[in-house]
Amino acid sequence: MRLTVLGSGGFRRTPRPGCHCPVCEEMRDAGTQRLGCSLFLHDGNILFDTPEEIAAELESAGIHRIEHLFFTHWHPDHTLGARILEIMNTQWSERPEWRMAAVHRTDVHMPGPVYGEIMSRLGPFFEFWQHLGIAKVELMDAPVQAENVKVEAVVFKTMHRTMTHSTVYIVSSQSKKFVYAPCDITPFPKDDRVHGCDLMILQVGWHGPEMAERARNGPHYEISMDEIIEIAREYKPTKLVLTHIGDEVGMLRKDLETLEETYADLNLQFAHDGMVILI
Ligand SMILES: [Zn+2]
Ligand SMILES: [Zn+2]
Repeated sequence: MRLTVLGSGGFRRTPRPGCHCPVCEEMRDAGTQRLGCSLFLHDGNILFDTPEEIAAELESAGIHRIEHLFFTHWHPDHTLGARILEIMNTQWSERPEWRMAAVHRTDVHMPGPVYGEIMSRLGPFFEFWQHLGIAKVELMDAPVQAENVKVEAVVFKTMHRTMTHSTVYIVSSQSKKFVYAPCDITPFPKDDRVHGCDLMILQVGWHGPEMAERARNGPHYEISMDEIIEIAREYKPTKLVLTHIGDEVGMLRKDLETLEETYADLNLQFAHDGMVILI
């Protein structure tokens, strides 16, 4: 399978306008950026999540078709770019009654309770796009087969204070399998299907002084690097990639490099925008 990490940023892109923290300044100086968190699987043209910058991410990765769109959870940093369906799936028509003509329809999958949590907030938009014929929205209650790819969803209630549900996706094709769980993954669900995967893409954890500060302030729902490493040691993927890297976790380039060295036995790599992974 061939994957592109379209956006490796956290709940806010970095650098952030208005922010002069060391992370944002380092990225500014280097001329790099991390846009909203999103993943594309080229096999089957499958997109996971739509951050606000998704159009730019798809354009720079040279992706021009989305057959399937899966959402992990309702949070705005993963859903507010859903208008990509209008941007990609319509053409300007001369029909006077309706100038936005559908040229393609994307199947949109929202697993279990995630369906209700998204539709109660963005329902009218998705109804409009269904009416246009550019989206078919489905409650995902069983694995989805797309060409040779099987997508399974493990939905669980997170510790996030919005009491939201989030999703761990398990994606397999022939003998290869990867797991995608980019945001709000505490408590990480126990599931035997997660074992033995070729690749696990998880959110980055808090680490160093930022983590110590959170721990000092009492209970928190944010995951730590220690917990991420525990998950990886339990499920033993061949390769571990961490994404959703916002400036709030305070990690500079050298911190990421140090962690990659420290956990070289786990084959840990931090994601970057446009990162291509082959498994
Ligand atoms: Zn910043
Ligand atoms: Zn997020």
